[in-house]
Amino acid sequence: MHFGILGSGVVGLTTALELQQIFPNARITILADRFNEDTTSYVAAGIFRPGTSFTGPTKEITQQWIIDAFNYWDEIRRSKEAPLAGVCQLSGYIYSSTSPKIVKNHFLEQLLPVYRQATEEELKLCQGDWKYGSFFTTCLTECRLFLPYATKKFIAAGGQVTRHHINAFSDVAQHNFDVIFNCTGLGAKDLCNDQQLVPLRGQVLKVRAPWIKLAFYGDYDTYILPGFEAVTLGGCRQYDSYNLNVCKYDSMAIKERCCSMLPSLKRAAVIWETVGLRPHRAVVRVESEILHLPTGGIQKVVHNYGHGGYGVTTSPGTAKHAVKIARELLVGNSKL
Ligand SMILES: Cc1cc2nc3c(=O)[nH]c(=O)nc-3n(C[C@H](O)[C@H](O)[C@H](O)COP(=O)(O)OP(=O)(O)OC[C@H]3O[C@@H](n4cnc5c(N)ncnc54)[C@H](O)[C@@H]3O)c2cc1C
Repeated sequence: MHFGILGSGVVGLTTALELQQIFPNARITILADRFNEDTTSYVAAGIFRPGTSFTGPTKEITQQWIIDAFNYWDEIRRSKEAPLAGVCQLSGYIYSSTSPKIVKNHFLEQLLPVYRQATEEELKLCQGDWKYGSFFTTCLTECRLFLPYATKKFIAAGGQVTRHHINAFSDVAQHNFDVIFNCTGLGAKDLCNDQQLVPLRGQVLKVRAPWIKLAFYGDYDTYILPGFEAVTLGGCRQYDSYNLNVCKYDSMAIKERCCSMLPSLKRAAVIWETVGLRPHRAVVRVESEILHLPTGGIQKVVHNYGHGGYGVTTSPGTAKHAVKIARELLVGNSKL
């Protein structure tokens, strides 16, 4: 059995590791044109927090993805691998001065060990006229650590990684892959001619502020998320923008909003500013497709893309589902 995985972001790598678990004797090759710091995954703050609009094919499947993903990250967090994989626990507050709906999250309320309404005193923990708030304890996965960790683990278990740009699925026909997993994120827009896939541009600042130990969310996409070495300040969500350059006005707005919540951040040195294009799709695409190649043959593909702003959160769950779909595609294949 030979599998190909297109993409080496958090979605491709979690799919590759799941595949090795389920098919320990298979040959598995990752093909991608960008790795580590050149991926969108690397830009993410990595907090486990699916947005309430996050949607898979059905309510039940979406819920299962989120449960499976949380269990995956939480198991690493509890293990000795946690510092190598870049997974830690993080607690914090989400506040709003406009609507109680913003601080509620039906996915997390059912799943996290702690997700509760903030008290009146807690609404005063950072500056602002906060009317509504929730406190929660979740996971954070820093892709700066997780991507190289997962790649190393994949190679140690016999996986192969090749740098290759793919213009069409037929480009990789010579590999004779039994199944290809399409984990190309925004790259799937061209590869699949998928008009539903849209970039949601995000910009963040990584600052040195070791005195910040809690996460804070405010209105208008404002967030302060402490990670392993830096604190991520965000953010913005610009629909259909392909601009990968850092915009100084976005940085100024982000700094102002974050410093108005926690004035001590004015003293934090900026380590780097960065931009990523979230691969947004109203319904995340995890499904199979049988492609008819120009050469006359067929190619089985399992798509796994379109995670938007929640790819770190949900990738282990969609990976599990994608591998299950591949198993079903291969039923009756004598090489199984
Ligand atoms: C500012 C910002 C903050 C974020 N914060 C969070 C967060 O806190 N929590 C969270 O869960 N998510 C967060 N996200 C979202 C998260 O980063 C994405 O959902 C996730 O990275 C998507 O992963 P991916 O593997 O699909 O895509 P990518 O990381 O973009 O990887 C795609 C891979 O496909 C390859 N590829 C694409 N096209 C081709 C091609 N034609 N040929 C060869 N290779 C190809 C690329 O080289 C790359 O290896 C954030 C995103 C941004 C921008």
